[in-house]
Amino acid sequence: MISIVTPVYNEEDNVVFFFDAVTQVMKNTSYDYELLFVNDGSRDKTEMLINQLAQKDSHVRALTFARNFGHQIAITCGMDMACGDAVITMDGDMQHPPALIPELVRLWESGYDVVRTIRDSTEDASWAKSFTSKYYYKLMNKMADVPIVEGGSDFRLMNSKALGTLKRFREHGRFLRGIVGALGYRQAELHFVAPPRFAGVSKFSVRKMIRFALDGVTAFSRVPLRAALYVGVLCGGM
Ligand code: UDP
Ligand code: MG
Repeated sequence: MISIVTPVYNEEDNVVFFFDAVTQVMKNTSYDYELLFVNDGSRDKTEMLINQLAQKDSHVRALTFARNFGHQIAITCGMDMACGDAVITMDGDMQHPPALIPELVRLWESGYDVVRTIRDSTEDASWAKSFTSKYYYKLMNKMADVPIVEGGSDFRLMNSKALGTLKRFREHGRFLRGIVGALGYRQAELHFVAPPRFAGVSKFSVRKMIRFALDGVTAFSRVPLRAALYVGVLCGGM
């Protein structure tokens, strides 16, 4: 069985379209599947809509958080609850195209434990977002102890072996794409161009982006800790 884990936060205009797209793709594969929505404390009709989908289609499971915990925690909860032999995490706004699922599955069938995807570009990304993302990854690669691929995304497939190891990382401020890269195992990369969102606007505020970027730096680099130590020693010596 394949589990598809999708975090959703105020995605009332996307969930049904996304469900239809995933259903169409999965019905054409030979696998049983579950579509696990993790509602990250939405304040719109998302909760009602995913509950309706779960009632109408037994492939759908709907979980709702009591408040907004953030995309990384929502994905983590979904991976913890998933029952599949392979788990695919993907966004619910169509920027991670469901049409690529068969290609992820094919690479898993050919023996890879993890299939990561790399966004070559995002069709509707603002100049500022593309620019900051590009230089963030360049800086991360200079500072971090593990390679962190530019354009890395949380659209990926993991088999139960790799997922079992990932589940042992329980930090709260998490940068999953870095952790997965550092896991080892046989990893494949699939490149794609992210289309614009189907509906609505990005749910990542500038504050959330900065927090996420800092979680990545502090989790994978000793530089901030050392910088604090040097500044402390310098100040102490003055
Ligand atoms: N999301 C979430 N919690 C949040 C922010 C986002 O569950 O606090 C979900 C969102 O609904 C979407 C996915 O995470 O399914 C990616 O978010 P978004 O599309 O807003 O990010 P972007 O593509 O703009 O980087
Ligand atoms: Mg998006």
